[in-house]
Amino acid sequence: MSAPNKSYDPVQVTPLNADEVERARDDALRAIAVAPDLDALKAVRLDHAGDRSALALANREIGALPPAAKAEAGKRVGAARRTVNDALAQRQQALEQERDERVLVEESVDVTLPWDRTPPGARHPLSTLAERVADLFVAMGYEWSEGPEVEAEWFNFDALNLGPDHPARTTADTFWVGSPDSGVVLRTQTSPVQIRTMLRRDPPIYAVSPGRVYRTDELDATHTPVFNQVEGLVVDEGITMAHLRGTLDHFAGAMFGEGTVTRLRPSYFPFTEPSAEMDLRCWICHGDSVGNPDRPCRTCSSEGWIEWGGCGMVNPRVLVACGVDPDRYSGFAFGMGLERTLMSRHGAEDMRDMVEGDVRFTRPFGTEI
Ligand SMILES: [Zn+2]
Repeated sequence: MSAPNKSYDPVQVTPLNADEVERARDDALRAIAVAPDLDALKAVRLDHAGDRSALALANREIGALPPAAKAEAGKRVGAARRTVNDALAQRQQALEQERDERVLVEESVDVTLPWDRTPPGARHPLSTLAERVADLFVAMGYEWSEGPEVEAEWFNFDALNLGPDHPARTTADTFWVGSPDSGVVLRTQTSPVQIRTMLRRDPPIYAVSPGRVYRTDELDATHTPVFNQVEGLVVDEGITMAHLRGTLDHFAGAMFGEGTVTRLRPSYFPFTEPSAEMDLRCWICHGDSVGNPDRPCRTCSSEGWIEWGGCGMVNPRVLVACGVDPDRYSGFAFGMGLERTLMSRHGAEDMRDMVEGDVRFTRPFGTEI
């Protein structure tokens, strides 16, 4: 680029001097290159490309030049301004990109972090298990029946054919409310709900009643003075032990997996006749541990079977006590401990974990709804 032709330049215009234009351009480019952020770049733009910048001033001076000098000066200043504007645009883009990347990092949200400083608790596994059992029976047309935990002695014992001399009535097993003469107990079983159900309505009766019961046991790994039972009662015409067996098989399959093998073992309860204990085939060793010291099984203590609960045909004396005609109706009843069921179903080994309220125990069971 040649120097302006001074013979056409009536005024000595410093801003249009080639060196000045180059210096203004280079100053601008240096400032642009070191602008650390978008705010700084904005200031640089104002200083070096704004209305009061050296190049804008030079551009304005062009108008005062004689026509022959305008073209060359215009080309020189225009090229410098384009260079500066291009550099500004590039730097702007680079800084915006940097900002966007930084914002993505700084403002990113870790969705795996706890969102609440007060973590929610977890439903107790016994509650979810009780509801799961009740759901299973409600789906088969059973009603969910409940009764009081503070119960009259008559409902808890007499009506269930537990006579005045039955050992279970002594204070060794029973929490009496007040003195043993009060006639009021903390129910020792959910069976009084059966009595209340039969007194409340006429057969046919299909009822399931989960609930809390009380016995004077010490709290240890396999006992607790407060525990949960689930009780089932059916009273209808033509009910036989086969109905009981089929119902329990279905129940066992739903709790422990399809194909769970069950066994009824003769037993005695005052309120059922005949009575049976119900066992489940050990699902760990399938009985292979029996008489086989090389393959011991902790789950069933190498017995091949796991006790689950008691059952039987409702004793006709119980039906009579509730005003049900035993010649027309028969029924079955069963009951099992929910704690025991939870232990078998989930491998929980210590009953104390179930009553101590530590969410570290309950949380792994999930929030089954
Ligand atoms: Zn086993």
